[in-house]
Amino acid sequence: MSATVFTIANQKGGVGKTTTAINLSYALADQGVRTVLVDLDPQANATSGLGLEKLEGGSLYAPLCGEGGALERVQPVGANDCLFMIPSEVDMAAIEIELYQREDYLVQLREVLRPLRESDDYDAIVLDCPPALGMLSMNSLAAADYLIIALQCEYLAMEGLGQILKVVDKLRDAGVNDGLQLGGILMTMFDQRTNLGQQVVGEVRNHFDELVFRSMIPRSIRLSEAPSFGQSIFEYEPNSAGAHAYRYLAEEVIERFKLGK
Ligand code: ADP
Ligand code: MG
Repeated sequence: MSATVFTIANQKGGVGKTTTAINLSYALADQGVRTVLVDLDPQANATSGLGLEKLEGGSLYAPLCGEGGALERVQPVGANDCLFMIPSEVDMAAIEIELYQREDYLVQLREVLRPLRESDDYDAIVLDCPPALGMLSMNSLAAADYLIIALQCEYLAMEGLGQILKVVDKLRDAGVNDGLQLGGILMTMFDQRTNLGQQVVGEVRNHFDELVFRSMIPRSIRLSEAPSFGQSIFEYEPNSAGAHAYRYLAEEVIERFKLGK
């Protein structure tokens, strides 16, 4: 059994990618899915959001430069037996340039992650991407089985979606990753009191139908506060609406992608 690789991508920043990477990973682990969250963003928000130190040499920077492996960089995340992480560090910012200089620069991450993916120790790998369709995000798409798009419930939400979906098609057509699939679209920062929220969800459902997860993540102060305590929402406020939504999302993800079975 190999681990299923998910990338949480969208070239837009501030749409809830990292919040989703953290809390989906945590919720999957809580349900017994052995999950490795890989922080690919030089800003390392997922790393600090789970209370991990930005250790020098702890990120995938060196492995992506051809030095050392991914397996030895996997760290347990104390609060949860099934949750592991490869942290990021500022060095990762330079990787974009490093990658350009390598042959097969699109598939470096896939190669680096191979031992992790093929290990019997993990069921899921979740990649948290920087907010741009640069080398790291491209590499994540080349390494993933499924793309999960976090989409903020706002006016013109779908603008820019076409761009990332085109990249998915191109990577597939070029044979870089012919297994890559759009795994689902997650509506984030949903406010059910506004018509706009409902309208946006309606529009996205019209286009993408059941690819849209039934679980929608509400706009919630609790979700935005938790990272400053280095905690997932399940440690910070386990009974909040945000925690319920991410728990439900994890159930859907387990069901949809037959994880840990
Ligand atoms: P990205 O990784 O796409 O840049 P983040 O997950 O970091 O996005 O979220 C951007 C900001 O919005 C952060 O300050 C985060 O705490 C906040 N945020 C994310 N999801 C929610 C939510 N559902 N409700 C309220 N604030 C949120
Ligand atoms: Mg982020």
